[in-house]
Amino acid sequence: MPLKLYNTMTRRVEEFAPLEPPTVRLYTCGPTVYNYAHIGNLRTYVFEDVLKRALQWCGFRVRHVMNVTDVGHLVSDADEGEDKMALGAQREGKTVWQIAQFYWDAFRADLRRLNILEPDVWCRATDHIAEQIAQVRALEEKGYTYVVEGDGVYFDTSRLPDYGKLARLDIAGLQAGARIELSAGKRNATDFALWKFSPPDKKRLMEWPSPWGVGFPGWHIECSAMALKYLGDRLDIHCGGIDHIPVHHTNEIAQAECALGHEWCRWWMHGEFLTLPKAGNETARMSKSSGEFLKLDLLVEKGYDPLAYRYFCLNAHYRQQLAFTWESLDAAANAYRNLKRAVLDLRRDGAEPAAPDEALLAPFRQAVEDDLNMPRALAAFWAALKNADGAPPPAVHATLLEMDRVLGLGVAEMHEEALAVDEAEIDRLIAERAAAKKAKNFARADEIRNRLQADGIELMDTPQGTTWRRA
Ligand code: AMP
Ligand code: ZN
Repeated sequence: MPLKLYNTMTRRVEEFAPLEPPTVRLYTCGPTVYNYAHIGNLRTYVFEDVLKRALQWCGFRVRHVMNVTDVGHLVSDADEGEDKMALGAQREGKTVWQIAQFYWDAFRADLRRLNILEPDVWCRATDHIAEQIAQVRALEEKGYTYVVEGDGVYFDTSRLPDYGKLARLDIAGLQAGARIELSAGKRNATDFALWKFSPPDKKRLMEWPSPWGVGFPGWHIECSAMALKYLGDRLDIHCGGIDHIPVHHTNEIAQAECALGHEWCRWWMHGEFLTLPKAGNETARMSKSSGEFLKLDLLVEKGYDPLAYRYFCLNAHYRQQLAFTWESLDAAANAYRNLKRAVLDLRRDGAEPAAPDEALLAPFRQAVEDDLNMPRALAAFWAALKNADGAPPPAVHATLLEMDRVLGLGVAEMHEEALAVDEAEIDRLIAERAAAKKAKNFARADEIRNRLQADGIELMDTPQGTTWRRA
């Protein structure tokens, strides 16, 4: 069976075939490094990692490039607002360069903890200013740009008949809606900055000379310029979160296809959002610039294994929204722990090298090939683990290892000590729970109880204090 993937461009699940098999040229939009990644961002990187592992598992050779956005772009998609990097530097009393390095390192540490394979090439926007200027020049030479005095160089989207094809944008509607705000010099609602000028009276923390004046690149140009440099003029797959469809990826396509003069990328794949439930039935998007977000460090501080978060992500298909709650994370942590226990039991029964069991593997393979259906793939993993048909334990173990090449749940690294609960940690949590109760912070107290329960530790409140036992 061939690998089938959903393509945002065609809105269909299609058989995947790269241009030059077995090579797959994969570009994934990387982090903006003015703050930590939140667990919503990380859900997207987990999805992309599963995609990459699945491609490798299916025999493709993946060349993967990821950018690091370290230029101080503006807070809104509309090329307005404050510079995010400068805000970060101000907040922390560091230089913008220190901020970028610090949060890039933090991001890589998050990837490692989540078993996410690193790209073959990391490319920083600030190391590729010349490439970005070259692409803007190419667009200028072909007549796709115009200058707004005192503002920047803009892309004229009306010059491109199929602008907005990825998002199927209603250009006429957008244009009608924005007529009043267009007075600032932008010709069309969808036009976007390729190069922004520094204000004449102010020195920006990050700025570079260019043929049009001192300034900094627009947000979208780095990806199309660096993808061209590292992957050539045709990509096989380009990924990101769904928020990138209407603006960022739409503009990347406009720039690349106008500069190159041909189709740029065949497959566009997008991960749905991780949401935070709000009061009522509403959900909120987790957003980095709002300042309110959950990071992986917080999960670790609360005692969760980062791979339990990966397991949590795999429980939903990447094209479905996933609502984050502590209860559902607890359920995933519990399931992941049971999975580890079962793997270790199996290993005790026999882990001599063996070939995977094809019958056990078949449903897993079907799930992966069916647009990366990880909930079904996990079910196949569990079915293999339960092994109702009685395959020899070494063959089952080999099957699980084979499946884990896609799942990335660390099956090969699982060992007994990792399951042993640290008793000092239990005592610390019990003390913290008592303090929380005293302070009437019952939510935290319950959270600690649930957390320990997920680890198989049951708390018992007695008049003498709290004791515990293994459930
Ligand atoms: P950023 O660092 O803001 O550029 O975002 C990094 C990646 O995370 C991009 O691919 C975004 O589309 C994605 N992303 C942002 N918010 C979320 C979210 N709540 N859930 C899943 N992915 C997200
Ligand atoms: Zn991008």
